[in-house]
Amino acid sequence: MSSHLSAGQRALLRAELELRRNQLDKQISLHQEGRTRVQHARDVLERDYDDAPQRAMDREVDMALSDIDSQELGLIGRALVRIDSEDFGACSDCGNDIPFDRLKAEPFALRCVACESRREQPSRNP
Ligand SMILES: [Zn+2]
Repeated sequence: MSSHLSAGQRALLRAELELRRNQLDKQISLHQEGRTRVQHARDVLERDYDDAPQRAMDREVDMALSDIDSQELGLIGRALVRIDSEDFGACSDCGNDIPFDRLKAEPFALRCVACESRREQPSRNP
């Protein structure tokens, strides 16, 4: 089985993936840096009263944010590994080609639109 993607299309997707990976890397490190600074300021300013519930909530939001980033980073990393294989660009569920336009928007997409939306609505299509 050979991929429907040309070498040029592949190169473009690879560049896109690498760009996104760099952006996410930057975002995650900025985020962590910012959190440390905010945490430090709080520790200094708010030593005298108990704001533990608020702090716990902030931490949850922070963690949710970086979860999404790290999740995407993982997807991108896997896509960069797969991009040279023959089945890159094929839907992992039905095996159909994922249209290049979809891959351009989401280079780490694993499924075609039909399979993806089936997954998002499991109750309608068990
Ligand atoms: Zn599919």
